[in-house]
Amino acid sequence: MPYKSGQRIGVLGGTFDPPHIGHLIVADQVLHALDLDRVLLVPANRPWQKVGRRNITAADKRLAMTRAAVGQAEGLEVSDIEIELGGPSYTTVTLDALSRQFPQAEWLIIVGADAAVSLDTWHNTEKLRRQATIVVVNRPGADFHPPTGWQWELVEIPAVGISGTGLRRRVAMGHSINFLTPAAVIEHIKRWNLYRVDA
Ligand code: ATP
Ligand code: MG
Repeated sequence: MPYKSGQRIGVLGGTFDPPHIGHLIVADQVLHALDLDRVLLVPANRPWQKVGRRNITAADKRLAMTRAAVGQAEGLEVSDIEIELGGPSYTTVTLDALSRQFPQAEWLIIVGADAAVSLDTWHNTEKLRRQATIVVVNRPGADFHPPTGWQWELVEIPAVGISGTGLRRRVAMGHSINFLTPAAVIEHIKRWNLYRVDA
């Protein structure tokens, strides 16, 4: 891929089940606040910390919904790297693979305040600490705790009280999710009849 090296690239990993405007606002706000070259939204192939707790929508569908959500948004891209790699998704392995696509890039891993709390449970954190800076964004319902031992920055964004869990519940209850996620995502949810039973 014809990417120039030396870029500062944000990585917003997640399950994206489904993607919603919270993800888009986070990615765009961090892109601009830190003057990054791009932010990659990276759907997990197998979010190993969530497996067994609930049914997770097939990876190809979550990828398609994430692509639909991002559309042509400037500076935002969707990467299928974790789905291509297969198996459980570990950010340190993802960054190794992304580094081959974007040589010499500087990596910033973007997490909501809820996800920041469990950074230390991630795979091979010793290596990950050297690979990337953690960018924490505020999220309603999650207190901010500085990720000690990591290189980190805080980016304050307009609070978005929207979650994948909330959207799944709303669909299951037959409530509207208009404007909580882009219309193109809602079309996919309807076409595939997602979230009707399991929420
Ligand atoms: P779920 O409820 O299924 O966990 P989610 O909305 O948390 O869905 P994820 O795919 O788990 O979405 O989140 C990916 C990343 O985006 C995480 O780091 C999460 O903290 C962050 N994130 C998601 N929604 C928001 C939001 N509304 N505000 C701030 N950060 C968010
Ligand atoms: Mg989550």
